[in-house]
Amino acid sequence: MDHQPAIITEEEEATSALPRKEPPKIHRLDESVVNRIAAGEVIQRPISAVKELVENSLDAGSTSISVTVKDGGLKLIQVSDDGHGIRYEDLPILCERHTTSKLSAFEDLQTIKSMGFRGEALASMTYVGHVTVTTITGGQLHGYRVSYRDGVMEHQPRPCAAVKGTQIMIENLFYNMTARRKTLQNSADDYSKIVDLISRFSIHHTEVSFSCRKHGAARADVHSIATSSRLDAIRSVYGMAVARDVMEVAALDDDPSRSIFKMDGYISNSNYSAKKTVMVLFINDRLVECSALKRAIEVVYAATLPKASKPFIYMSIVLPPEHVDVNVHPTKKEVSLLNQESIIENIQTVVELKLRNCNTSRTFHTQTVYPSTSGTLGSNKNTQLSPSEDGSKSQKVPVRKMVRTDSQDPSGRLHAYLQVKPPRQPEGKADLTTVRSAVRQRRNPKESADLTSIQELLNDIDCNCHSGLLEVVRDCTYIGMADDVFALLQHGTRLYLANVVNLSKELMYQQVLHRFAHFNAIQLSEPAPLPELLMLALKEEDLDPECSENDDLKEKIAEMNTQLLKQNAEMLAEYFCVHIDQQGNLSKIPVILDQYTPDMDHVPDFVLCLGNDVDWEDEKSCFQTISAALGNFYAMHPPLLPNPSGDGLQCYKKGKNHVDIKNGNATNNLEDDTIMEDEYDHELLSEADTAWAQREWTIQHVLFPSMRLFLKPPNSMSTNGTFVQVASLEKLYKIFERC
Ligand code: ADP
Ligand code: MG
Repeated sequence: MDHQPAIITEEEEATSALPRKEPPKIHRLDESVVNRIAAGEVIQRPISAVKELVENSLDAGSTSISVTVKDGGLKLIQVSDDGHGIRYEDLPILCERHTTSKLSAFEDLQTIKSMGFRGEALASMTYVGHVTVTTITGGQLHGYRVSYRDGVMEHQPRPCAAVKGTQIMIENLFYNMTARRKTLQNSADDYSKIVDLISRFSIHHTEVSFSCRKHGAARADVHSIATSSRLDAIRSVYGMAVARDVMEVAALDDDPSRSIFKMDGYISNSNYSAKKTVMVLFINDRLVECSALKRAIEVVYAATLPKASKPFIYMSIVLPPEHVDVNVHPTKKEVSLLNQESIIENIQTVVELKLRNCNTSRTFHTQTVYPSTSGTLGSNKNTQLSPSEDGSKSQKVPVRKMVRTDSQDPSGRLHAYLQVKPPRQPEGKADLTTVRSAVRQRRNPKESADLTSIQELLNDIDCNCHSGLLEVVRDCTYIGMADDVFALLQHGTRLYLANVVNLSKELMYQQVLHRFAHFNAIQLSEPAPLPELLMLALKEEDLDPECSENDDLKEKIAEMNTQLLKQNAEMLAEYFCVHIDQQGNLSKIPVILDQYTPDMDHVPDFVLCLGNDVDWEDEKSCFQTISAALGNFYAMHPPLLPNPSGDGLQCYKKGKNHVDIKNGNATNNLEDDTIMEDEYDHELLSEADTAWAQREWTIQHVLFPSMRLFLKPPNSMSTNGTFVQVASLEKLYKIFERC
């Protein structure tokens, strides 16, 4: 290569008179510079100083802590407590760096219980502000006051009158850091951040009373009174609206191979509504942030609750101190935990169970709005509607297949029939016990099947299993959904698209056979009448559902199928947990995968399929077709509401055929979109968003983990488009190499 002359900038040229190429001399920084740099790290904003001071007061065993703030903390921060105070002899070194009463040897960190241990906070404050300490220890007649600058006392401590405890005052924070002071002066929210911080402390440390006020203000913005009830504390700090809509959660794990921890807390229920997540997290009594846990819980909320609200979460997690590394962040804002993934997963499961139960009871409340289907009162139109009429009458969306569109009932008309029984367990005991026993049950499913026809069907699955795909399924990593039906997977160096509808259908089919005659039940809160379900399905099969031409015929078919299913009700109940009562109502359906409830929009298709497609004569074929019908019902079909993140968005515009008329095609330009912004049916859109988010969550957290454990992919899946290999990394690398 030719040697290019170096380009010299004007600036460099100006200095080029100096001998170049000589490395600059390394010298030791002045101690005060080092300290100020370090101080800037520990005390990043006024709130960091408040946090350190309050933690010191807590460490000092205080029962009352009050905070006063002026000018967002830049002019004054004052924290007074009634703790044990500071010894006179310690005052000279109190604000030197690395002076602490809480830690001696490094090993002590493993078991440290106090908030502080670095001995840096007070020192840091003296490098970036003017610190004055007033303190009195037990049994003394008077206290002492002393001011500090750059780590040292400005004068000898002066005797003064003092009330029990310590008062630390910081004035003119960042007086010597012009840039930081300027940026902070422009931001008005430091005080509200401080109020938020004290609120968080007060709901955890309920044994301490806290107050926080602006300097000179008569009223405190946070004022908590020591109480024994956490809920009272939440009420007094966050208000009635939050306290009313939270429920208690708890989790526990004591299996060293997974994780050891205890969690208790309060989380918002389905009635709570907020735009921003509030997560108050204490780990071993330390106020910390854990974005992974926060995200994990938000995902559960988005997927489980019909109303897209951000949650309120208070959680206190206690682990053996040696499992927590508190020394990973200069402000101790974050900690790292042993077995973090396992703990998060565990908490996710508990939150989900809790939400599902509260969600069910919510659905149940809505249910009371609807009359029983046998209602005879004719006066009120709304109360007269039977479930089937209800859905079709109030249809809003120009997609004929859609049946769940009553805005009064956001979780879908048929969901009103669904009541998942809350798992029975002792109060306060972790829901985990239920989860674990369910897992155990799932691991030994074989013993149930003693009928030879079932054995044969299970053998067929084994013999027909594709070994290559089995490996893919067992060890694949789920990457995400590529479109409505295909998920992207990685296996080794290969990428695959996999059809989740086919996969889930097959998995459910196989699981029905494995669990044969040993199902838990999902109870419908109100039995659903078969004739109406069948009519609904038959009408949907029609090209024009409004056409009532063949209604008589349909009614006959519905009636015949109802009789047929009633005749076989005993067998359906005993072997498949599909319960049909004497009146011809569907009342229970089976749990095929734990933690999973099928989309109730598919119930009509399912009963029609039972009526039409099952071979009731031959035992093996009968079991196979019923299992297949269940498999199809429980499969993870795309929700009936079109996916709003794709072309489906068009369907949520108010007013029919808008797109076609305006543009002549389905792709809208940007300008058009902004004009139309207000014309979307936002309620329906958010329902659709939730349905799709819920499905995606279920695919990742229920379908894939279960598939890895149980699915035996049949040979047909290698050729029928269920798996499509889209790339192999080796080949991609080759391509990149050439570029
Ligand atoms: P750390 O908290 O890491 O020990 P700090 O600089 O925050 O370091 O505090 C230094 C020491 O000063 C503490 O170890 C404690 O002994 C003492 N101290 C600070 N604040 C108080 C207080 N409010 N009450 C009693 N002692 C205090
Ligand atoms: Mg401290």
